[in-house]
Amino acid sequence: MEQSMSEVMNVTDMFGRNVFNDAVMRDRLPKSVYKKLKKTIEDGAELDPSIADVVAHAMKDWAIERGATHYTHWFQPLTGVTAEKHDSFISAPSDGRVIMEFSGKELIKGEPDASSFPSGGLRATFEARGYTAWDCTSSAFLREDAIGVTLCIPTAFCSYKGEALDKKTPLLRSVQAVNEQALRILRLFGNTTAKRVTPSVGAEQEYFLVDRAKYMQRKDLIYTGRTLFGAMPPKGQELEDHYFGVIRERIGSYMNEVNKELWKLGVPAKTQHNEAAPAQHELAPIYEEVNLAVDHNQIVMETLKKVAGRHGMACLLHEKPFAGVNGSGKHDNWSLTGDDGTNMLNPGDTPHENIQFLLVLACIIKAVDVHADLLRESAADVGNDQRLGSNEAPPAIISIFLGEQLEDVIDQLCSTGEATHSKKGGTLKTGVNILPDLDKDATDRNRTSPFAFTGNKFEFRMVGASDSIASPNTVLNTIVAEAFKEAADILEKADDFDMAVHDLIKKTLADHRRIIFNGNGYSREWVAEAERRGLPNLGSMVEAIPALTTEKAVKLFEEFGVFTRAELESRAEVEYEGYSKAANIEARTMIDMASKQIIPAVIKYTTQLAGSICAVRNACPEADVSVQTELLTEASDLLSSMKVALAALIEATDKASAMGGGREQAEAYHGVVAPAMEALRAPADRLEMIVDKDLWPMPSYGDLIFEV
Ligand code: ADP
Ligand code: MG
Repeated sequence: MEQSMSEVMNVTDMFGRNVFNDAVMRDRLPKSVYKKLKKTIEDGAELDPSIADVVAHAMKDWAIERGATHYTHWFQPLTGVTAEKHDSFISAPSDGRVIMEFSGKELIKGEPDASSFPSGGLRATFEARGYTAWDCTSSAFLREDAIGVTLCIPTAFCSYKGEALDKKTPLLRSVQAVNEQALRILRLFGNTTAKRVTPSVGAEQEYFLVDRAKYMQRKDLIYTGRTLFGAMPPKGQELEDHYFGVIRERIGSYMNEVNKELWKLGVPAKTQHNEAAPAQHELAPIYEEVNLAVDHNQIVMETLKKVAGRHGMACLLHEKPFAGVNGSGKHDNWSLTGDDGTNMLNPGDTPHENIQFLLVLACIIKAVDVHADLLRESAADVGNDQRLGSNEAPPAIISIFLGEQLEDVIDQLCSTGEATHSKKGGTLKTGVNILPDLDKDATDRNRTSPFAFTGNKFEFRMVGASDSIASPNTVLNTIVAEAFKEAADILEKADDFDMAVHDLIKKTLADHRRIIFNGNGYSREWVAEAERRGLPNLGSMVEAIPALTTEKAVKLFEEFGVFTRAELESRAEVEYEGYSKAANIEARTMIDMASKQIIPAVIKYTTQLAGSICAVRNACPEADVSVQTELLTEASDLLSSMKVALAALIEATDKASAMGGGREQAEAYHGVVAPAMEALRAPADRLEMIVDKDLWPMPSYGDLIFEV
């Protein structure tokens, strides 16, 4: 019944149906309680614990009416995925009966025994206490799946001493920091109406879909999320015929279900299209407040995976599931929105006259230049190491693309000290009478910049598809808060504000112009040019992690109360450990596949060839067996290269895994194990091109990406 009901339900009925949202709260909470809760949500006032029981009660009734049996505190530990522990609502039975209970205490605070979550030494296992605390700025929601209906309560996760053990706590701290400083900037320009400024974020999510039965035949996909072997098929993405191509039925019915699931959970899924690589797609929601956007992106990732299973497919969120074709990223669109509707990143039609915008822009340019290493670090994850700098992925060097119009304004400011005009977009003429003339944007798009200004927002494109967007936004918010603060400190004291702001913009732009680059970020010349400009080029996660604990980073994060030194050190530890663990799994998976699947298959093939040579020779001594002989020689040579490379990989992996952890171990995996993996892959991929397809022990790239 439920199924067919929801089939006919339209989007407006569906949207937010499973969310304990503002409308439901207004409906179900006593007015005074609703008001108090609203104050916390909107003004950041401290939560009044006395209202918790009432809210919990209303939440429970609402959830149970919709079939919920359990609730869970839903949190985001440093694993990068979400965690939950389910409790049913039932009370201790009396007279053999139970009632359904849920108290304010249970809503506000959870205490998962969380000793197995990564804490980077912040919490020794003998002090396993960790607390989850209700984040009322992100609505509770109901998840319906095979387990049943579960009430999910978004929470932050902290240690006994209040140290952040998750991604949400520092994010919320950074939101407070940028709010405070952004308001100072607005006040300087006479804005007295905005009471709050929040980062707005829209994350475009890329993903691959493959057939589940084929997926199950690839241990690399199962264990690591990406292929570790695989020769390129005759066709790749060179025809660009998949990008924006017609969505096929199987994929379309999947997207349809994904959208419905997301809409019910209040996630404003908006755009869907095929991406550059075969089997690659994208989903983008409408932007929201950053905290919600982060939670919703986690829900998007979970939903993409869950629904894929129902359609006989597997969704790959890995940044580079297939070598040689496009990887998957997550464009993090970021702007600053006041509660009065101001978008601080809106240049207007004549940016040269928009002094507030120019100051904001100058501050962001400065922030990104000063903390390029941190921003790069925030996008580092194990999978992204395979993607950054390769085909259709932004380079690992941070630079900013502003576009012609803003670049020109900055040129004017820096050369003559005055900006007197803004380039206009003009009209786009198609040369066809019946087509309307279109207004052109003042700036064309650029696809290769890691940090591009796109109209009224910045788009940070380095983030990996499988990663949480919490860290990149935490860094962005904090570095911009710092630049705002430094500007406000100067300007609030100025006697002549107009003069002071003009000088400050000019000086800031002159000092940090080197980070602006409008050219092709994928070119080799840019690498050399960036080096000449002194921009950091942190090519891998292992090289990026130290940025977290520099004195510069500690000073920044401590000043704005986003991370303590101990929290930063623990995060670096967690990242090294995560890297080493993932690299170890990849290496061991390769060893397993090479030893138990590929080498045996090649031996079978060479044995067949040898058999054929003998048989043909016996039957007909004058027959030409040169083809079989050549193939046999080539396959045998590659087979022996494989064996040598396999032995080397086993040795390197054993050595690395015996090390004591931390940076040194991660460096061993990056510097020694990763090249040994490449060395093993090379002969195996060549063998795949030779060996009889019937004998090859797993589906090929072609099977995976062209036959979904
Ligand atoms: P693209 O052409 O790059 O796909 P879109 O204009 O479709 O760009 O926007 C991509 C994402 O950016 C969407 O999630 C959209 O909601 C979000 N977005 C649009 N405007 C803003 C803004 N002012 N601040 C933050 N995100 C925004
Ligand atoms: Mg985009």
